[in-house]
Parts: sequence; C-alpha cells; structure tokens
Amino acid sequence: MKKRWIAGLAALAMVLPAYAFEFVTIGTGGVTGVYYPTGGAICRLVNKDRRSHGLRCSVESTGGSVYNLNAIRAGELDMGVVQSDWQYHAYHGTDRFRGQGNQDLRAVFSIHPEPFTVLARRDAGIRQFADLPGKRVNIGNPGSGQRGNMDMLMRLYGWNKDDFKLVTELKSAEQAQALCDNKVDAIVFTVGHPNGSIKEATTACDAVLVSVAGPVIDKLVAAHDYYRVATIPGGMYAANPDAVQTFGVGATFVSSTDTPASTIYAVVRAVFENMNQFRRFHPAFAHLKEAQMASDGLSAPLHEGALRYYKEVGLR
Ligand code: GLU
Repeated sequence: MKKRWIAGLAALAMVLPAYAFEFVTIGTGGVTGVYYPTGGAICRLVNKDRRSHGLRCSVESTGGSVYNLNAIRAGELDMGVVQSDWQYHAYHGTDRFRGQGNQDLRAVFSIHPEPFTVLARRDAGIRQFADLPGKRVNIGNPGSGQRGNMDMLMRLYGWNKDDFKLVTELKSAEQAQALCDNKVDAIVFTVGHPNGSIKEATTACDAVLVSVAGPVIDKLVAAHDYYRVATIPGGMYAANPDAVQTFGVGATFVSSTDTPASTIYAVVRAVFENMNQFRRFHPAFAHLKEAQMASDGLSAPLHEGALRYYKEVGLR
C-alpha cells in the first residue's frame, strides 16, 4: 500500500513540472488603444514557449499608464505598458508621483511612439489646441497617461476646468462614441497610430485631428528628454489627408525588482527572438528596431533579466 502511494507521488512529481506554471500579468490600457494589443502580442510570444520556461502570460485591460505604475508598485501587476514620461516620474517621484518615487521600478524595453492626439468634431470650430477653452472636452480618465498630459498642459496654458464648457473623464474606449454622439466636442488620447479609437471616430462621424504646436509646446519639448515633436501622418485616417503636428512620448514596457530576473529574461527573449513576428502584430510596431528598443526612453534602471538578455546578444 505504502509502496503504491510512493509510486503515485513519484508519478505526480514527473507530471507536475509541466503544469506548475508561473502566472504573470501585463497591465495595458483600454481595448481600442494600442497598449491592449501590445500586451496581447507579448503574451502570445511568451505563451508559445510556455513548456520550456514555465510562464503563463495574461493581459489585463486597465485605466492606462498611471494605473499600471501604481499597480506594479502595489505588487498587483507583474509588468505593464506605460508612457516614457510617467515611467520617469514614477521612478524619480516627480509630478503626480511626488513623494511616491518607486526605486524598485525597472525598465524592460521601449515600444512604439505615442503622439498626444487631439480629435474634434468637425462642427466644433476647433482648429488648434488653444481653441479648446469654452468647449466640451474629454480630458481622460484618472489613471490614464493622456489625463496626466492634459493636466500638465492645462497648467502650462494657465487653464482650469472652469475654462471649459464641460469636462468629462471618460475612458479611452468610450470617448469615440461620446464624440460621435455629440456629448463632447473634443477628445484627447496619448496613443500609437493607427489605433481603433481614432479610426472609430474618423469613420463613424467625420472627426478631425487637431494640431498641438506653438511656443508653449516648443519649450516643453526642449526642457524634457521624454518629450519630442511628433507628427501624425496624413491619410492614416478617413477624411484627414494632411499630416498633423503635435508632441509625443514613447510607449515603454516596465516591471519591478519583485519580478524575478528569470521571468523578465524569458519575456524579453520571447519578444526579441521573434521580432519579425512581433512587428507584424500591429501597424504601430512596423518600424521598431531592436537597438532602440533596448535603449530609448528608459529612465528607470534596466531590469536585471532584460540586461542579461541584451548583454548576451550584444545590445549592451
Ligand atoms: N498612453 C495611454 C495611457 O498611458 C494608453 C494608450 C493605449 O491604450 O494604447 O493611458
């Protein structure tokens, strides 16, 4: 009897490793943005090799960058996609992270560019960013990267909420519909292009991209490494044939020292060894280059597991 029991245990032990997966979760953004499919692409590549590294990766739709950074700090998410400016502030404890700097935050790699995007109803009389006061504007949900950018821009332009006819805090996945239903005149989204949200509004109700440029923006870009001048190409969206100038950040992938080096090593390896496939997952990834991904826009220290991979392949 005892012998059979031991034999049973031994058999179980042989089977167990295959099923003893380590579950890891990536925080993303709204489902019509680019973060959500980005997390999906990373997880697909990770899960393809799950038998060899034992990781099982899943994606969570979240409120965006600031939410992800807070959740990583609280140990509720293992990894997340976040804007380069919010990565910087979360690590250094500046701006909305004042007094809450997270020294355990780690950079993994950078991904696609994210222009600060303003989209307006064609009948709203909004030609440029400075036309927004007096209008109904969705300034973004708390927790999103664009909300943080909008708060910062309002400070720089000397506006407060009372300067608008109406301010809403809708999530990114809800705002195209609100624009088309004439509930707001303009929406903002710091996001890669093309994306589902802007596509939805430009095809469903003929919305128009608005430029965000001028001395205030020039000064902003000159003062901070994580901001740069950005252009949304003409013809990418219906009825928007001209390129539109704005400023932007980069999407980055981050984690924390709480996530083991072996885990991050396996995730980075899965993405970098399948880079051709990764680039094809989303049009916003088409121009990604390994060397830039391993260095650009990373203001927190590199995660040990990422550094190990980059050294191995000569990217560092
Ligand atoms: N940049 C946005 C944020 O930080 C998310 C963009 C997206 O969902 O692709 O909240």
